[in-house]
Amino acid sequence: MKIFVYSTHRFEKPFLLKEANNQHELIFSAYSLKLNTAKLAKDCNAIIAFTSDDLSAEVLNELFHNGVRYIALRSVGYDHINLSKAKELGIKVANVPNYSPYATAEHAVTLLLAVNRKLVLGQKLMKLNNFSLDELVSFDLHQKTIGIVGTGNIGAVFATIMKGFGCRLLGFDPVENKELQLKTGIIYTSIEDICQQADVISIHCPLLPSTRYMFNSKLFGLMKKGMLLINTARGSIIKTSDLLIALENQTIAGAGLDVYEKEHDIFFRNHLNNVIIDAEFDALRNHKNVIITGHQAFLTREALTEIAQTTFFNINKWEKGEATKNEL
Ligand code: NAD
Repeated sequence: MKIFVYSTHRFEKPFLLKEANNQHELIFSAYSLKLNTAKLAKDCNAIIAFTSDDLSAEVLNELFHNGVRYIALRSVGYDHINLSKAKELGIKVANVPNYSPYATAEHAVTLLLAVNRKLVLGQKLMKLNNFSLDELVSFDLHQKTIGIVGTGNIGAVFATIMKGFGCRLLGFDPVENKELQLKTGIIYTSIEDICQQADVISIHCPLLPSTRYMFNSKLFGLMKKGMLLINTARGSIIKTSDLLIALENQTIAGAGLDVYEKEHDIFFRNHLNNVIIDAEFDALRNHKNVIITGHQAFLTREALTEIAQTTFFNINKWEKGEATKNEL
């Protein structure tokens, strides 16, 4: 099959090539999918898309007119595709519903430890010959309360790791994970209760209409002063302008973020010769108690292998006319 791969990055190409196993004609492109790049996929039966690609109704229309009938998303999240439009056009869509949850959960723990122990500031001071510890006081995680929002694949691994630190776990999820309850003793409660009790909150739910801006001034107003907020899920689950206020009034002592609500035009590219005009992004990345990584939580060899395997499993099944449980 002829397949167009949008937004190809150097880090993933070998994994995709290996799993394609010479069975398909792959056209790799660094271009992201937008209205004016949809025609690049002309005469391709399928495309492989990344989280940063635009899969809005008008782009799907254009893909359809160019012959595309299958979209393999190489991501868990599918908040960036208009599924009802794809269905209307008869374009099948599949995602990678799970791949190493350890990759993202371990990155969330990394951000938490780095923010709490002020690692970035400590390194800067070290290089300036400043060995004063006055700015570097943190807290033990042992016996602290950790709120986990979304206890699916990634949230469950994060909970298990934090259990190992000796933390008390609170969870918020419309679907309670009974196995996790037995394994870690996590207690399910309301989001408001979590905000009032937690020393750390880590977000692991999908971006849905119901979770967009879930973390806003109302929830920040309930939070325990000095808490830490970690987000490796999707940027728009947090209202950035409200987060900046909560950081300024020190309700939130620090944040570790792998995602940002307007990351679409920023992340995954080298902007060395561009000016990024985004005051909120600048305020966040220059904040002394915030650490941001550029949507890299998934970036382990194990995760890249599993993403490529499931992507070609989906494509090969579709080619044979067989459905998979990964179709959305
Ligand atoms: P999952 O589907 O296994 O788990 C998501 C959980 O969130 C489910 O248990 C679901 O019931 C719960 N949920 C749904 N609505 C909720 C709500 N309103 N409040 C609280 N919980 C809610 O997904 P996962 O594999 O654990 O991934 C979670 C999210 O992490 C993905 O949707 C994706 O956006 C993000 N992600 C980010 C990266 C990254 O590199 N930063 C990598 C993988 C996934």
